[in-house]
Amino acid sequence: MPALKRPNVVVITLDTMRADHMGCYGYFRKTSPNLDELAASSVLFERCLVPMSTTLPSHTSMFTGVWPAEHGVLANVKKQFIYERDPSLVTLAEVFGAAGYRTAAFISAFPLRAEAGLATGFEIYNQPTRTKERDAARTTRQATAWLKEVGQQPFFLWVHYFDPHGPYLPPSPYNEAFKTTDELRQWLGDRAVALTVFRSKVKRTEQGNKVNLLSSVNQYDGEIAFMDHHIGVLLDHLKEANMWNRTVVAVMGDHGEGLNQHREPGHGFSWDEQVRVPFLLRAPGLEPRKESRLVSATDLAPTLFGLVDLPATAQKKAHEARTRGFDVLHKTFKPRPLLVQSSARAEMTEHRSELAITTDRWKFMHRSDGGSSLFDLDRDPFELHDVAVLYPKKVLELAAEAERLLTEQAARGQSSSRPATEEELDSLRALGYGGDDD
Ligand SMILES: [Zn+2]
Repeated sequence: MPALKRPNVVVITLDTMRADHMGCYGYFRKTSPNLDELAASSVLFERCLVPMSTTLPSHTSMFTGVWPAEHGVLANVKKQFIYERDPSLVTLAEVFGAAGYRTAAFISAFPLRAEAGLATGFEIYNQPTRTKERDAARTTRQATAWLKEVGQQPFFLWVHYFDPHGPYLPPSPYNEAFKTTDELRQWLGDRAVALTVFRSKVKRTEQGNKVNLLSSVNQYDGEIAFMDHHIGVLLDHLKEANMWNRTVVAVMGDHGEGLNQHREPGHGFSWDEQVRVPFLLRAPGLEPRKESRLVSATDLAPTLFGLVDLPATAQKKAHEARTRGFDVLHKTFKPRPLLVQSSARAEMTEHRSELAITTDRWKFMHRSDGGSSLFDLDRDPFELHDVAVLYPKKVLELAAEAERLLTEQAARGQSSSRPATEEELDSLRALGYGGDDD
């Protein structure tokens, strides 16, 4: 398909959105009717992985097109230090701004505050001011107000929604939308999820140490449905304002959520439910289909550049010179093994840090204590049966490849950090991202 001449571009990022909890990704509940409708007119990427299942590192990879070891942001916060991204990297917003686009971002939570490094290139970077997060209704309202004023110039709009992130407290009626059923028990049982006790760091301060897993899943799904409703409002606005036939929409999750699968309540590690995210791409003239090949969040920017005919500005050339992603719609695209690193924050917890490498069929995980596992994703998509002893050669091959990729990535970047202010630490703790001990 020929590149589009100056279409609007809307990037919607869904915080903490497991792909497998959306209808269009096969979930048995109707959590996402509006996104499902969008998916029906989109290319839906069935296997999109983020390189780190943590908010700021993952978003930084989407916008700069490089791996966390290269942009340098390895956690939201680590032991009272804040990582700063390589300032020489150009972001998506800078490229669109240089092409004469109006640019605006509407952010729903503190980890993506302007100082965190992604405001560069946006004329408007709208974020919650008096609270640490805001819900989808408020964020959509702010974004649509801006759309009403934007005029005829093409725009690049980023809207970030945070609702599915813990604590899971959807407003009425979404807190009642999903009840425990045998089907839910079966779905969780297939994934070997322990149903009894759910230890959630986020909820510890509010409701004691232990909460019921089934009720947490119901509430998590309620948050998705609430968010989906307000994404529907935003998309309806684009349609009613006659912008739809000249607007590209990309939807991507920044990471998933454990919900007790593999005994992990949250995110930050490399299990599939934490790193596989929705990725939908809708553009006028782009044939809807499902794409089963492995793609990465770093591919977002190059794929948008393939769809949109932008002038070869210095910013675009700089982005293209550094990016490690690919235009995944291009006929020459070939999937490559994808590396996932656990958040640097993991080193501060009882957990061990992890490195995982995923190929078409295999996933190899290596932990810092020397332990490792191999999963045959063709036979075992939920990563339940370690088959490392059956395939020793495959283990050696993938371990070497993971090592090679990490070394290569680390050599291309450098990580720098500064002490966090008390205020930053307080805000991050309020959202469940710890300081010293977390
Ligand atoms: Zn996030």
